Amino acid sequence: MRRMRIALGAVVLWTLLGAGPLLKEVKGYSADTLLAGLDGYKNQENEADHDWKLILVNSQNPIPEKYDITLTQLQNNQSVDSRIYPELQQMFDDARAEGLLPVISSSYRTEEMQRQMMEEKLQEYGRQGYTAEAAREEAKRWVAEPGTSEHELGLAVDITTADWSQQDAYVIWQWLNENSYRYGFILRYTEEKEDITGVAGEPWHYRYVGKEAAAEIYRSGVCLEEYLGTAVQSCP
Ligand SMILES: [Zn+2]
Repeated sequence: MRRMRIALGAVVLWTLLGAGPLLKEVKGYSADTLLAGLDGYKNQENEADHDWKLILVNSQNPIPEKYDITLTQLQNNQSVDSRIYPELQQMFDDARAEGLLPVISSSYRTEEMQRQMMEEKLQEYGRQGYTAEAAREEAKRWVAEPGTSEHELGLAVDITTADWSQQDAYVIWQWLNENSYRYGFILRYTEEKEDITGVAGEPWHYRYVGKEAAAEIYRSGVCLEEYLGTAVQSCP
């Protein structure tokens, strides 16, 4: 069984992404301290880690064993890889400045949480009369198998509204679609690319890849698999 070592000690910030306060308002820390901590963390990265932003995880590329994550905890029990936190916060601040109220509904998940999600999805399709095989086939379009979800990397966030209002969510997704690349995030799963990604269109799912790759992906319209040149082979 895959086990991930999760280092929680290095940089743990309590932030309020969903409710508004900025980094400088984090209780007990000054903004300078927090940013210095993050810079210090980044400087400890060695050369081999320079590609962490572009790690490909999908049905055919599971998360490596012993994948290290340092998490930054957000409000409402959410957390993300600490390295993406500053840009995520900036993206939310800028969206709010335009009158939007985005909320993170899902972020980092353990493999066990992913397993539970898959189990619930299978049961849901089971209740609808799907055979076990058909249920798994359909569920995989929406929920990644444990060990193959970007959420287990801490580099993906699902962004919506507090009350899941479709109309408000649409405006937020529109803004994210047009602006997220400026902060290093890409819209990861579009309907047009389902044949390649193996995942149905998810307008709420954003993946951090860094500003350079995000800008190229945004401008060229390719998906991450195409960008990396390793499209998922469809199973015979
Ligand atoms: Zn997601």
